[in-house]
Amino acid sequence: MQEILKPIIEIQEFDMKMIRLMRIKRERQKELKQIEELRADLHAQVKEKEFEVEELTKQIKAHEIRIEEISKKLKELEARQTQIKKVEEFNALTQEMTGSERAKISVEQKISDLVDQKAIEEELLEKIRESLKTSEASSIALEKEIQQSINMINAEGTQLKEGRDALATTADPDTLRIYERLLRNKKDRVVVPIENRTCSGCHIALTAQHENIVRKGENLVFCEHCSRIHFWQEAEALEGTPVATKRRRRRTATT
Ligand SMILES: [Zn+2]
Repeated sequence: MQEILKPIIEIQEFDMKMIRLMRIKRERQKELKQIEELRADLHAQVKEKEFEVEELTKQIKAHEIRIEEISKKLKELEARQTQIKKVEEFNALTQEMTGSERAKISVEQKISDLVDQKAIEEELLEKIRESLKTSEASSIALEKEIQQSINMINAEGTQLKEGRDALATTADPDTLRIYERLLRNKKDRVVVPIENRTCSGCHIALTAQHENIVRKGENLVFCEHCSRIHFWQEAEALEGTPVATKRRRRRTATT
């Protein structure tokens, strides 16, 4: 184990925590967005329903005007009928009146249907408004809670960054650069121990010769399969950095 890797491994622990933290933050932000979308959807439903009710009101009004027109016409026809002498004309007028009566009945039926439909739509509108109200009340509490947790994540992130920055000043700049480049690619631990002559990053078996070079700890040794940096975890220099055991525990927990 190289002394040079010790601060890098500690930095790596900070970076892993940061990656996890940012993942949680993204999830929480997604939850916030979902709440907003749900509310926007309910608002849109209310608007749509209001429009439908308004349209029905307009249609009912138009039909009522039609009824008034027919009634007026009927009155005129009745007035004319009293003055008619000829039978043919009288019959023709009667026929026209019957037609108007029928039209009136049909329009009245239409109005009745529209009124029923409007009542149903209004009931639905009321229900959507109710659920919007309840969901708004509960979502405000939830949003507050999520926002608080995001604030806590941000505070924790700032602290992590401070700790990491302080450690970074103690690390060898070249090794740190190599580590950071690897981390950007993998978004996972990139300085890993050899376990049972296997790379604990990619789990591919290594040669005895490779293991020996790592044990000597004279140079940085990269995994030939995944490019991670290897270290020998039983090395004395590693004492106080319980990296390897932690990683193993994490893996069992997630599978
Ligand atoms: Zn590997």
